[in-house]
Amino acid sequence: MSETVPAATAPGLWEITIVRVGTRSTSRSDVYLNYPLYHQADGPIDMDYFFWVLRSPEETILVDTSFSRHGGESRGRTVLLEPADAFRLAGVEPGSAPRIIVTHGHYDHIGNLSLFPDAQITMSRTEFDFWTGPHADKPLFAHSVEADEIEHLRQAADRGNVTFISGTADVAPGIRLLEIGGHTPGQCILFVETSEGTVLLASDAVHYYEEYEQDIVFTSVSDLVEMYDSFALIRQWEADGTVDLVVSGHDPSTLGRFTPATGALEGLAATIGTATPGDTTTAEDTTTAVTTTEGVHS
Ligand SMILES: [Zn+2]
Repeated sequence: MSETVPAATAPGLWEITIVRVGTRSTSRSDVYLNYPLYHQADGPIDMDYFFWVLRSPEETILVDTSFSRHGGESRGRTVLLEPADAFRLAGVEPGSAPRIIVTHGHYDHIGNLSLFPDAQITMSRTEFDFWTGPHADKPLFAHSVEADEIEHLRQAADRGNVTFISGTADVAPGIRLLEIGGHTPGQCILFVETSEGTVLLASDAVHYYEEYEQDIVFTSVSDLVEMYDSFALIRQWEADGTVDLVVSGHDPSTLGRFTPATGALEGLAATIGTATPGDTTTAEDTTTAVTTTEGVHS
C-alpha cells in the first residue's frame, strides 16, 4: 500500500445530508464474515440504507442512489421512502442531471441511477471494469448487483457520461475521492471538507463502525488484505486528526451521531456542516478536469 494520505483541498465547505431510505433486521453471524471465529455470541443487528447529498452554494452532488424498490424488496429489505420521493425531499429532482459520485457498483448504491438519465457519473475505472468483466457473474459477486443497473452504467459510459478516476481525485474543491478497495475491487471513499471538520464518507469501506474499530470484516469482501489495511488507515486518520468524523455506509447508529434534519426530511435524515462558498475560480478548474494519481490499493 502506498502512503497516499488525503491533503486539504481548496477552502469550499460542504453540507452533507445523510438520507435513510431503507432498513432490515438480521443477525451478526449473517453480516460478518466467518463470525464464529470471533467467539462472540450471535445476536440481532439492524442495517440501514442511505444515500448522501453534498451541497455547496455552487453545486449539489449526489453520492450513490441507494437501492431501487425492486432491488431492495427482492432481497427482503424494507423500503422506508419511495426513491423518487426521497431524492425530491432531499432537493435533487428526478429527471435533473446532478453530478453523481458512485462509490461502488452494488445494488444498494446504484439502484436508482435511471431516475437521472443525463447525470454525469464519477466512479472508479477499476470498479467499472470489474462489474463489466469476467468475474462479475460469479455467484459470490453477482448476488450484490442487478444486471440492468450495471447495464445502465455501461450505456452511460458509452454516451460519455461517466468520468473515470484511478487512485485519488479531487472532484470539487473540498471533495477528494479515494479508491481503497477491500469491499469491492474499486470501492471508493470520500473526504469532504465541512464546517465541522474533515468528514470521511466511508460508504461500504465501513458498513458498521465496529468493523474498523475492532477489525471485524463484513461478509461481502473482494480482498481481505485491502480490507484490513483500510481499517488500519481509518484508525490512523482518526488518531492523527486527518479525519474528524466518519460516516458509515450502513450502521443504524449513523443518523443519531449527527444533526437531525429539519423540514421535509425530519426523522429521515441528518446533516453535517453548513455550506459556505469556496474559491469559484478553482471550482471551475477542478470540475472540468479530474486529476489522478497512484491508488492506495494498487
Ligand atoms: Zn452497501
